Amino acid sequence: MSSLQQPQTPVLLLKEGTTETKKEDAQKNNITAAKLIAQILKSSLGPRGLDKMLVDPMGDVTITNDGATILKEIEVQHPAAKMMVEVTKSVDNEVGDGTTSVAVFAGALLEKAENLINKKVHATVIVDGYKRALGKAVRILKDMATEIDPKDKGVLVKVAKTSMASKIVSGNSVILADLAVDAILKILEEQGSIDSDARTDNLTSSSKSKYRVDLDNIKIEKKAGASINDTRLIQGIVLDKEIVHGGMPKKMENARIALLNCALEVKKPEFDTRLNINTPQQMQKFIDEENNLLKSMVDKISSAGANVALCQKGIDDTAQHYLARAGILGVRRIKESDMSKLAKATGARMITNVNELNTEDLGYAQVVEEHQVETDKWVFIEGCKNPKALSILLRGGSKKVVDEAERSVHDALMTIKDVIEYPYVIPGGGATEAVISQQIREWSNSLEGRAQLAAEQFADSIEIIPIVLAENAGMDPIDTQAQLRSKITSNEPRYGIDVLNKKIADMTSKNVYDPLAVKEHILNGATEVACMILRIDNIIAGSKSKDMPSGLGAGGGHAMPGGYGGGGYGADM
Ligand code: ADP
Ligand code: MG
Repeated sequence: MSSLQQPQTPVLLLKEGTTETKKEDAQKNNITAAKLIAQILKSSLGPRGLDKMLVDPMGDVTITNDGATILKEIEVQHPAAKMMVEVTKSVDNEVGDGTTSVAVFAGALLEKAENLINKKVHATVIVDGYKRALGKAVRILKDMATEIDPKDKGVLVKVAKTSMASKIVSGNSVILADLAVDAILKILEEQGSIDSDARTDNLTSSSKSKYRVDLDNIKIEKKAGASINDTRLIQGIVLDKEIVHGGMPKKMENARIALLNCALEVKKPEFDTRLNINTPQQMQKFIDEENNLLKSMVDKISSAGANVALCQKGIDDTAQHYLARAGILGVRRIKESDMSKLAKATGARMITNVNELNTEDLGYAQVVEEHQVETDKWVFIEGCKNPKALSILLRGGSKKVVDEAERSVHDALMTIKDVIEYPYVIPGGGATEAVISQQIREWSNSLEGRAQLAAEQFADSIEIIPIVLAENAGMDPIDTQAQLRSKITSNEPRYGIDVLNKKIADMTSKNVYDPLAVKEHILNGATEVACMILRIDNIIAGSKSKDMPSGLGAGGGHAMPGGYGGGGYGADM
């Protein structure tokens, strides 16, 4: 390089206005932001965790304890904090629960890493130690998990209840857990053979069981105005639509259902057409012709033996009249997603041309009836034979309660799905984390050099779960930690935090069980994001354009006020 001359003028590598944060500053900055995210979520971990009230710029209020929902609602700007948000989202998508835990654990990993960085341990060494500890932790976890029968309702209910224990609806978890399990057992699909050695391999969760659950086949309809205990499982589908014509029957028993994907209307021509009518007779003839066309459609439905017509498109006034005269109950403009659920629930075949309708295309339901649900009229298609899709009609005292109940039921459904598709469970309440922590601590002694320090910090970090559960229950964290450590004499996860009685107890006797899939995702997700943040030693940020409103530069923001296009606006309750 000696042949190159020293440049006379400073080299400008970055655009004017670009800021660069280097080395320790960058690390500290990122760690602090990520820790803040963990700090926000900490107090909502576990059954004794508190809830957050989130107000969006439109004034819509959400009350929740769900980690992913909290982070979705607060618009985070800092890039490292965004990485934390991403990891909770991905855990939420994959397994549906454990979102608070993943952020809290990642926060702890970063906090401990910061201590090491202060002692001049290099980030790469920490990352290496953490990764090795993760590998060990996952092996310990899998060895401890208990295999279950995926159709064992008892275990599934325990898992569902554990996932709902931390929600506002926990008081009703007995009913809701039961209902969620019933719903899933109905829509379960069997698939290829089971992998007997699922524990030790690295397959994805879904390939490990012979059952598959598609949650799209469970329709959740919610309505405020009654108690959560009035929530019902419907062996069929609830449509938030009315019966289309006043003259139609409001109730049809032994319903034979035609599912129509086409409109019961006379097709309008696609281009401008002119019709020259000179006499009233011609006019009459034209109208008669249209009527005959509609009547023949209705005749076709009627002669196929249907007494209920469920239509994805429109039903013309005249067609309504003929349907009513034929004693057929009709509903129109049903959502496409509901149509496919209806097909699965009733066994009907979707028809695109009325003239092709045959008796064997019809579906069956014991009863189709319009019910008044608060101020709305909804059509219930109930009592289907062996339905492969069904509905949960969620009730609650207010909109906020039903919204949170929906999120909780969704979490419960996801955890049930998790254990059915990957049939292993493990005690919750911090019991598992306490054993992992102890075993990693022991194992870390076998490591050489500074990686040992990092592995030790990993062991301390995972202990954050029982500690925070205890803290949130109002127990003394230091005393509890000492007591818990003294209780763990074997590698069997038993003793955890009985948050309701504020003491250390055997979690298996309290029936607190989490899916193995959730615990695995927490370990992997948290370590991954912590390592990713630790490996960053340089932040280069472009300058904001001058005419951009503040807060919109770093991505994520858009010109519309938050909450406008999203969920909060336009819900009909
Ligand atoms: P996350 O979003 O991580 O699922 P939660 O607030 O749902 O956070 O809390 C989950 C934690 O609470 C899990 O570790 C679970 O084992 C624990 N837990 C659930 N029910 C109980 C209980 N009855 N006693 C003690 N711990 C419980
Ligand atoms: Mg949870």
